[in-house]
Amino acid sequence: MLKQDEINRLRAANLPPRAMIIDGEICQALSGRTREVISPIDGTVLTTIPDGAAEDAERAIAAARVAFEDGRWSRMAPQERKKIMHRWADLIEAEALSLTVMGVRENGTEIATAIDAEAGSAVTTIRYYAEAIDKIYGEIAPTPDGILGLIHHEPVGVVGAIVPWNFPLMIGAWKLGPALATGNTVILKPAETASLTLLRIGELALEAGIPAGVLNVVTGAGSVVGEAMARSMEIDVITFTGSGGVGRRLLENAAKSNLKRVYLELGGKSANIVFADTPDLDTAARAAAAAIFKNAGQVCVAGSRLLLERCIYDEFLDRLAQVTQSLIVGDPLDLNSNIGAINSARQLTQNLSFVDTAQAEGGTLLLGGKRILADTGGFYMEPTIVAQVAPHHRLVQEEVFGPVLAVMVFDDEAEAVKLANCTSYGLAGAVWTADLARTLRMIRAVKTGMVQVNRYAQVDITSPLGGVKQSGNGHDRSLHALDKFTNLKTAWIQF
Ligand code: NAD
Repeated sequence: MLKQDEINRLRAANLPPRAMIIDGEICQALSGRTREVISPIDGTVLTTIPDGAAEDAERAIAAARVAFEDGRWSRMAPQERKKIMHRWADLIEAEALSLTVMGVRENGTEIATAIDAEAGSAVTTIRYYAEAIDKIYGEIAPTPDGILGLIHHEPVGVVGAIVPWNFPLMIGAWKLGPALATGNTVILKPAETASLTLLRIGELALEAGIPAGVLNVVTGAGSVVGEAMARSMEIDVITFTGSGGVGRRLLENAAKSNLKRVYLELGGKSANIVFADTPDLDTAARAAAAAIFKNAGQVCVAGSRLLLERCIYDEFLDRLAQVTQSLIVGDPLDLNSNIGAINSARQLTQNLSFVDTAQAEGGTLLLGGKRILADTGGFYMEPTIVAQVAPHHRLVQEEVFGPVLAVMVFDDEAEAVKLANCTSYGLAGAVWTADLARTLRMIRAVKTGMVQVNRYAQVDITSPLGGVKQSGNGHDRSLHALDKFTNLKTAWIQF
């Protein structure tokens, strides 16, 4: 149970300047340059982080290469590696609340969401993959007589993990867990506005006994550190979560360098589809609000498009408006806040411009649409609902990554499917209905990597998360994520 006085005590802590982790050393950028960490809660400077450059990325990549080639991690006995990863998870768990408060001060997620989604989820993820280490076997091929065919799963080598700011610990762990469990070495690049917690768990990894050079954390601009990683001849795999634009750039740089594998977890414009036979419209309305307003809509799988069957349109919107008006936007470290801050001033400006364009294109603003609490110095926005949007509108086609819901109406199942699939994205979505046959038809018809039925919430580590279409390729979470970080090697032995 979270306690407000404990949160208040932790938020008062001074945050000393942080450092990167390269080759087991806690160090500054070679240039000595730093960048300020601005809190979205009140716009103040929290601390500084190193402003890494290409030379820092290259140092980390070289260390990761040496650490991979000498086998200090990949050839360590599996049970020993597993023990170290569990120790790491234990250390993170012991600091879960202070890590979460530090992360919220930097990225603005309301703490009630962050406590489970961030440190809590990172611990679960690392333990899950630690357990996999001594439970995954190779294969024996069905060969002709006199041949033994062995199929090994080998680590790929050096992994570059590039992550966004919305859930840094959760998404970071989704990359680090399977990459490290399979014996690779890693360079982790946090987002510019969410580096602190990842730097801290990098320190804890050293304390847990992960050898020097196996996990390196390099901070700095994506256009500098991230670019250097993507262009490197010594990184074998990039695993990325972020925007489509950067995803394209990574593919270009991979093509121009060593054809490294690039796994992309990109954005979404997920449809939350409510049919008139939904068993409980109140539950559906509450879930629809949470689907878009949790973490102020800064969620890749957010239900950012609500598709309503015409005969329940007015009634459902009334219920949704009631729920939305009851949500408290405010200080994300106040347990009473339901919606925290927008991550940065830039993101806030972008969200507001989406609302302006939506109205200019003919959408009707039903609720919200404005910046609030500007006197705090922080970045806050009203939960916003825009109706009467059409498939060609920007609000339907583009990801806002903010608390802005687009509402559309449909007359039958075929139209619902057409609208659901009318964007270039295909990440997540939900269907609300009491009809089993329709459920099965819709699961097949909606082109996404994940569809939920009569719920809209996070699923757990046991199930893969990944997109289709321009939402990306490859999967985070579940045992399927291990495939990204292994090569299959075949050996046929004649006897
Ligand atoms: P972003 O693409 O701007 O940045 C993501 C990361 O890429 C950051 O670490 C950034 O520094 C780095 N980067 C920037 N330019 C780079 C370059 N040229 N080369 C290499 N790296 C570079 O995304 P963001 O604003 O941090 O995050 C929001 C986006 O992430 C949204 O589109 C959201 O949908 C997506 N997202 C997807 C998932 C998923 O699982 N599919 C989860 C969370 C967020």
